[in-house]
Amino acid sequence: MHTTIFHVLTLFPEMIVQGLSPSIIGRAWEKNIISLNTVNIRDYTADRHGKVDDYPYGGGAGMLMQAQPVYDAHTAVTGGRKVRTIYVTPQGTPFTQAKAQELALEDELVFLCGHYEGIDERVLEEIVTDYISIGDYVLTGGELPAMVMIDAIARLIPGVLGNDISAEEESFYNDLLEYPQYSRPEVWHEKKVPEILLSGNHRKVTEWRLEQAKQRTAERRPDLYEKYQEKQLLIQRLARHKRNNIHMMESLARGCAEVLYCDIMTVNHLSAGNPAVSGQYPAEVKHSVTEKHSESGKSAVPEKFPTKGKCPVPEKRITEISLLLYHRSCKTCMAIAADIASGEAIAEKLPEDTELVIVSDPVLKELLTQHHYRVMDSYIQMLYTRKEPLPVRHKDIYPLTMEHFPYVCRWYCNDGKSVPGINDAYVRERIQAGAMYGAFAEGRQVGFVGIHSEGSLGMLFVEGAFRGQGIASSLEACVVNRMLEKGWTPYGHISAGNTASEKLQEKLGFYKAEKTFWWLEKTLANST
Ligand code: SAM
Repeated sequence: MHTTIFHVLTLFPEMIVQGLSPSIIGRAWEKNIISLNTVNIRDYTADRHGKVDDYPYGGGAGMLMQAQPVYDAHTAVTGGRKVRTIYVTPQGTPFTQAKAQELALEDELVFLCGHYEGIDERVLEEIVTDYISIGDYVLTGGELPAMVMIDAIARLIPGVLGNDISAEEESFYNDLLEYPQYSRPEVWHEKKVPEILLSGNHRKVTEWRLEQAKQRTAERRPDLYEKYQEKQLLIQRLARHKRNNIHMMESLARGCAEVLYCDIMTVNHLSAGNPAVSGQYPAEVKHSVTEKHSESGKSAVPEKFPTKGKCPVPEKRITEISLLLYHRSCKTCMAIAADIASGEAIAEKLPEDTELVIVSDPVLKELLTQHHYRVMDSYIQMLYTRKEPLPVRHKDIYPLTMEHFPYVCRWYCNDGKSVPGINDAYVRERIQAGAMYGAFAEGRQVGFVGIHSEGSLGMLFVEGAFRGQGIASSLEACVVNRMLEKGWTPYGHISAGNTASEKLQEKLGFYKAEKTFWWLEKTLANST
C-alpha cells in the first residue's frame, strides 16, 4: 500500500501527535495510508544545555530559533534528499483548498514549525521550498498551522475519507460554499427540513443544493461568487459546441480544472471547407481581450470587420475560443486552439509536469508533437445529455474496494495491453477514490467500469463468458446514473475503431462529437 509521509519538525512533538491522533486522520495513520513522523528539533541541538534559541542580532523583542538544530533535524529526516519542505509562517502565501489539493499529490512532506519570534533566516534559505500561512494573524507557534494543513491535505488522500466522493462536494470544491445540510429529526424547534430533501428525487435535490450554494456564496463570499460566475460565462461560451467541448465544460463545472490560458476571438468564417472545423484557419481572426481570463494581450475586436483588401468577404462571423485547462490532480491538460498563434501560446503555457494532453484540433496536435509529446491514441468523444437515469438491469453492481484491485489489474493492466496510460498505480488510485464499480455474477467479479481521473467515463470490461447479457450496459448505466445524481453530464472517450463500445453508448443514448480527440503523452525527451 502507498503511504504519504508527513514529517513535522517541532519543539512540541506531543502537541502534533495528540492533535492528529483521534478521529479520521488517526485512523488513516493506523491504516498506514498516511504516516506521521514528529521530530523534536531540541534533540539535534549541539548546545550542551539543550538550548535551541538565542537573541536576534540587532536587538528586538523575543528569542529566535537557531539555524544549527533546525538544519540538523531536517538533514536527519531527509538524509540530504530533496523533499518539499514547508515553513508555516504568517509571512507565507495563504493556505487554500487548491494548495491542499496540490500538496496531497506529494509522497512526502516536511513541515517546519517556528516558535518564539521565528527562525534564523539562513537555515530557511537552505531548506525551505514553500512558505505558507494559515491566515493574517500571529500564533505563538507553528504546531497548530501544521496540524491544520496536515488535516486538510490528508483528507484529500484517497482512502482517508470513507466515501471519497464527499470531498468533491464540499465548500471550495467548485468556487461555491456548501449548501445547508439537515439530519434527523425532521422537525426540530418547530423548524422543518426543506420538503425537497425528503422527496427522494436526486435530480431535484441536486438542483436545490446548487441554488442554495449559489445564494450562500453570493451572501457570504462575494469574492468567490464572482469567480464562480466568470467560470459559468466560459462554460456558456463552450456550450455553443457542446458535443466537442463537453470535456472542458465538465472539468470547469465540476471544479477540478484551472484555466491557464483563455482567449476568445471572433473569426470570419469562410465558405470553403468549414476551415475552423478542419483545422485550417481563415485569414481574418480578431482576438477579444474583454474576457476576464484572457492573457493573450491581443487587440480587441473592432466594431466592424474590414470587407476589402486581401481577405474575401466573410460569410459569417463566429466566436471561437482558445483554452487551456489543467487538472492538477492528474497532471492532465485539455486544450482547444482557434488559430496557430493561440496554439503556440498554449504550448508555451503547458505546465512542466503535464503528463497527458487531450486535444481536438489538428493544429494543436501538430504543435505539441513538436514539443515533446507523442500521440498515444485517437478517440471519439461521446456524451449523454439526458437528465433521466438509465435502467440498470444487472443488479449485482457495487463500488470496488482494494480487495478487487488484483482482478482489475489482471484484466486491465496486464491483458488489456491496448489501453495506454493505465497501470497498477492508476488503478489503485481510482479504486481508492471510489471511482470504480464492479459487476458480480455466480458469486464472483466478472467485470468493471470507472470514472477516469480527468472525469470521463471509461475502463469498461466484461469477461468474455459473461458478454451479451447486458452486463456492460448495466455497468455504464450505473456510472451514468451516479454522475447524473451529482449534477454532471456523463461523457467518455472511446478508442477510434472500438465500434462495440461506440454502439453500446449510442444504444444507451450517448451522442458523438464531430471532432476527433487525441491523447498526447509526454515523451522522455522532455521529462529529463
Ligand atoms: N515574528 C514572526 C513574524 O512576525 O512573522 C511571528 C513568529 S510567531 C510568534 C511563531 C511561529 O508561529 C512562526 O515562526 C510560525 O511558524 C508560526 N505561526 C504564527 N502565526 C502563523 C500563521 N498565521 N500561519 C502559519 N504559521 C504561523
